[in-house]
Amino acid sequence: MKKLFAVIGDPIAHSMSPVMHNDLFAIYQINATYLPFRVKADDLEDAVKGLRALGIGGFNVTVPHKQRIIPYLDEVDELAQAIGAVNTVVNANGKLIGYNTDGPGFLTGLASIFPTVEGKKILIIGAGGAARAIYFTLAKEKPCAIDITNRTVDKAKDLIEACPYTTKSNAYSLIEADTLIREYDLIVQTTSIGMAPHDVEQPLKFTALKDGTTVCDIIYNPLKTTFLERAQTHGATIQNGIDMFVYQGALAFEKWTGIAPDVNRMRENVLKQLGGTTC
Ligand code: NAP
Repeated sequence: MKKLFAVIGDPIAHSMSPVMHNDLFAIYQINATYLPFRVKADDLEDAVKGLRALGIGGFNVTVPHKQRIIPYLDEVDELAQAIGAVNTVVNANGKLIGYNTDGPGFLTGLASIFPTVEGKKILIIGAGGAARAIYFTLAKEKPCAIDITNRTVDKAKDLIEACPYTTKSNAYSLIEADTLIREYDLIVQTTSIGMAPHDVEQPLKFTALKDGTTVCDIIYNPLKTTFLERAQTHGATIQNGIDMFVYQGALAFEKWTGIAPDVNRMRENVLKQLGGTTC
């Protein structure tokens, strides 16, 4: 019998996950299908009960359910528990187990251009859900420091206080971060600033970077934000949000099937859907 996989969220129509996972099921000859389901916030509990009753193999969880799904699961792994958000659920013989592959997906994608964060000084721009997953994941990798800058500085402070993994961190306003920017080896842009259709906006207005700095923007639409363009102009190695997206999906697929999928194929597939080439 065909196994069912899904992604739940609201909105969900533009999710690229179904094309990505259905292609993987086809190439690895797994008799399964992956469907998007729009689930309104008030219907989340019923939706999880329904997926459980249908014997779902596993599912992804996206905005706005990543935090609120936790009480409806049977188990949540340590990192997802610490982050307080789940984006991947595995049905292990009737037990729904929650994971967060966003942070590990970012870290795995980063490795191709920035092999280790150990001993490095990092700046995260933003203090929302994605920043939280990335911050907690990077904090476990023994960096020298991870500072956070955000429009609402109190949210950056709250994030630092909430982190269960010991790391040196300061919270800065966007203006303060601009003056400190030459201190960082790695800068990770996690706000929604610069996302289409607001492509010309950028969170920081730096005029120089430290030599050899790597700059990531987790946005993938557009593929090269104004922020990434500016960083490249100032000599940085850059990476957009495609890798994080692809690797969070690859890690989810591996949890469901035990197969480490072909990430290059996944990347090409996502790029085809976006209609561009990577940077
Ligand atoms: P979120 O929880 O809503 O957080 C949004 C962040 O952006 C907050 O730090 C917020 O600052 C900041 N922000 C929003 N508008 C701003 C503005 N006009 N000026 C200054 N700061 C602003 O969102 P999220 O879930 O973290 O997602 C953030 C971005 O990451 C989105 O573009 C999303 O598509 C992308 N993302 C990509 C991936 C991937 O796989 N590549 C995965 C997850 C998310 P305040 O705290 O001050 O409001």
